[in-house]
Amino acid sequence: MNKVPFYSLGYVTETLGRDLLSAFGSVLESNWFIRGPRSERFEGVFAKYCGAQFGVGTGNGLDALTLMLRASIEQGYLKRGDEVIVPANTFVATVLAVCAAGLVPVLVDPDRETCNLDVSLLEGACSERTRAILAVHLYGRLADMPAICEFAKAKGLLVFEDAAQSHGAKLDERRGSTGSPTETRDERKVARSTAAAYSFYPTKNLGALGDAGMVVTDDAELARTVRMLGNYGSERKYVNKYVGVNSRLDEVQAAILLEKLLHLDAWNARRREIAARYCSEIRNPLVRVTPVPANPLSHVWHVFPVFCERRDELQAFLSARGIETLVHYPVPPHLQEAFTGASEPLLRHGALPVAEELARTELSIPMGPGLGDDDVSRVVEALNEFV
Ligand SMILES: *Cc1c(COP(=O)(O)O)cnc(C)c1O
Repeated sequence: MNKVPFYSLGYVTETLGRDLLSAFGSVLESNWFIRGPRSERFEGVFAKYCGAQFGVGTGNGLDALTLMLRASIEQGYLKRGDEVIVPANTFVATVLAVCAAGLVPVLVDPDRETCNLDVSLLEGACSERTRAILAVHLYGRLADMPAICEFAKAKGLLVFEDAAQSHGAKLDERRGSTGSPTETRDERKVARSTAAAYSFYPTKNLGALGDAGMVVTDDAELARTVRMLGNYGSERKYVNKYVGVNSRLDEVQAAILLEKLLHLDAWNARRREIAARYCSEIRNPLVRVTPVPANPLSHVWHVFPVFCERRDELQAFLSARGIETLVHYPVPPHLQEAFTGASEPLLRHGALPVAEELARTELSIPMGPGLGDDDVSRVVEALNEFV
């Protein structure tokens, strides 16, 4: 019996094989490998795709998040020690970035249906030191940005986005970010998302052949500062304005990403097709699915999660039928030793029953553009047979 892979990266590589090889060949011939014409082009093209003005490539998604926040401090939008609200059920990198920037993550329980920030809990999470909300579009589903931005505006908070799982998800005419290019800085600072951070880790909806990331924003000065921070804090060679790091997009990854971006909308459409089938055909009282959003384009199904109280049994049951699954994520950040073992508290949170329930019950089933209709049927049948 063939396996149903969790995600077939081979499908993507095979579909584009020749184009990827020629993209790679052109970089090889150019003998220019870091921050050059291809990364500049990809930054422009991807920012435009996101409906934003500026893109700054970074070495990976964690760095994109960290540098986005560090640049906001250098710009005077935030200061070290400020509190940033983050959903408690995110991938640990979101929380690591807040800490790395010298800010304090305040973890908030997610909504059980959407798995994204529960807007009704934001008020209670705020203290006089709260300055920003870092929304995560978990599993590819856009967080409720209109409500989050409205809350932030009323409270004078900034909004940032961890868009590492949501390439191509659309709120309206804009995609990951929600700002509008014509706003002045002061309006933007309180009303809209300031910037979004993307990861192009190989298995993301848009993935490189290694690590890569990007900060996308409408704020020219913020973009410039991110660019400097990722280049030793320097804009002009051997002149260092900031205590920066080395985190840049390389030409090979940019060339590959330019090719892959041409297919992203089609791949996301296929993910939506599969998700629609899963949502309507999985009928087992032991297995809960998350609904298709009212605007289907606001979800790109990076992951298709199901929730089951007997998750480990379900995983073994599917595995025995050749169906690969993963768990996103088995241990939430606040229960990780990195945070529980720290000598002084690195983050702030109250009880997080929903985040802990999701971590205990989540199972990610096969999803991706390479998944065939027969494979989807096999997954559905197996899930419906579980008793
Ligand atoms: C993948 C991911 C990141 C980190 O991206 P890397 O490129 O792996 O550093 C951050 N946040 C979320 C939600 C992610 O899924």
